Amino acid sequence: MLATMDTANKAKKEANDIKVLQAFIGTYCRGKHGSAKGELCPDCREFLAYAELKRRKCPLDPKPTCKHCPIHCYSKERRALIREVMGYSGRRLMLRGRLDLVWHYFF
Ligand SMILES: [Zn+2]
Repeated sequence: MLATMDTANKAKKEANDIKVLQAFIGTYCRGKHGSAKGELCPDCREFLAYAELKRRKCPLDPKPTCKHCPIHCYSKERRALIREVMGYSGRRLMLRGRLDLVWHYFF
């Protein structure tokens, strides 16, 4: 699957990954920090910005799942946090039948 991935395709994949990040962090923030639907507490907003930036700056193409990534661009603390977010929200999204999102469970 190393065939040419054109720019449009890459942008689409990136946009989708960011949508997944937003869904996971949003679910986590609502459940853990009691924020309203569609809103994030300041910590989670900052963390989402960080995660988005890392995704946009990923130098690998095609991007491997983060679990198998040789770079691990997240800092140690952020990695621990994204794992917690993915674990927490992954279960909830699965219970709600959002398999389209869990499918992309990339951490
Ligand atoms: Zn939060």
